[in-house]
Amino acid sequence: MKTANTPSDQRFFAVLNAGSSSLKYSLFAETDDGRLERQTSGGIEGIGSPSPSFTAYDSDLYRMDGHRWEYPAKLDTLLSFLIEWIERFLAPNHLSAVGHRMLHGGTLYDEPVIVTPEVLAEMRTLVPLAPLHQPRILQVIDAIIERYPGLCQVVCFDTSFHKTNPPISRLYGLPRSLSEKGLIHYGFHGLSFEYVSEELKYIDRHAALGKTIIAHLGSGASMCGMVNGKSVATTMGFSALDGLVMGTRCGQLDPGVILYLIQHEKMGAKELETLLYQDSGLLGVSGISNDVRDLIASKEASAKEALDLFVYRVVRETGSLAAACGGLDTFVFTAGIGERSPEIRKAICRQLDWLGIELDERANRLGELKISAESSRVSVWILPTYEELMIARHGAQLASLHDRQKTA
Ligand code: ADP
Repeated sequence: MKTANTPSDQRFFAVLNAGSSSLKYSLFAETDDGRLERQTSGGIEGIGSPSPSFTAYDSDLYRMDGHRWEYPAKLDTLLSFLIEWIERFLAPNHLSAVGHRMLHGGTLYDEPVIVTPEVLAEMRTLVPLAPLHQPRILQVIDAIIERYPGLCQVVCFDTSFHKTNPPISRLYGLPRSLSEKGLIHYGFHGLSFEYVSEELKYIDRHAALGKTIIAHLGSGASMCGMVNGKSVATTMGFSALDGLVMGTRCGQLDPGVILYLIQHEKMGAKELETLLYQDSGLLGVSGISNDVRDLIASKEASAKEALDLFVYRVVRETGSLAAACGGLDTFVFTAGIGERSPEIRKAICRQLDWLGIELDERANRLGELKISAESSRVSVWILPTYEELMIARHGAQLASLHDRQKTA
């Protein structure tokens, strides 16, 4: 693989999203007018399992290729396979940059960065802030450096969109010595909020420049209050556990519960981690599923209660975010549940009528772009999120800078 732009070549950007057991990719091509178009996407599932598998989809999301390993192949092997596959797909063109999604930028990063040895060393110091996610991403970056040392790599942080939150909103009521160590409110899903707010600017500039709440309701869920397109408050905090009830995560919790579990249930750190990240949320409350579709289909009272709790927490957090924004003009639903569940959107909007939200029931049922009634004081939208495209945009911007620095 060539590792830099050659003049007059079309530019291509790969986005890698490394999870605990998966490595997803998307490949974008830059068009003549500077837009980025997805060429293919897919990834490797089951990393660490006895039989990981690779699937690739074309730009219309039809399956175009696949592979299965009949042994627990190591990450290096899987990553080489993926990059070689992209290489063959691109030939005779080449990648201009690889973009990565990183959960936590701590207090060090409030914008995307080009990977350098210094940046890598700094990012390693952030591992304790996101021990489940960050090490895997660093492993992927290291493996790419080893194979393609000249290839531009860009890291985008899910925390950095919230850099505009007022300092006071970042503080917990803990001793200053702890906030000085970085135990503060960060917020996440920044790439999603950034993408959706850019889309909103494009669709309705007036709406985007007012007081807006974006509800990213997926298996992970958080909300962001924005004024004039800038984040002022958000529901996740130091970790991605805070705020809303999620698929399997608990959301906002009295810290006294943790003390009780340690002191009286004799739980250790690992057990608590599993409880709070994997066994709680919709799954824990319903005892049935973490998937809203299963809970809507279920006749069990616990399924209804889990959904009611999900909606209740969104409504409560909306009040809190509206207070931080000083009002509300626009409300946006995004991510799996926000984009695809008319039932949940309706239940949320019904409980927010006091804020001036009036739903157009038909538009909501049909999943249209704008779903508020003409008479609604607050406009309500459904805007699909696209975090990979946001990462590719940052990658394209920084790759140009990288090239200019190399030729300077
Ligand atoms: P992730 O955080 O994994 O990217 P998504 O944004 O894809 O999550 O959201 C996944 C969740 O969206 C699923 O767990 C499910 O609860 C919900 N979901 C997906 N499709 C629908 C649907 N048609 N109706 C209701 N909920 C849905």
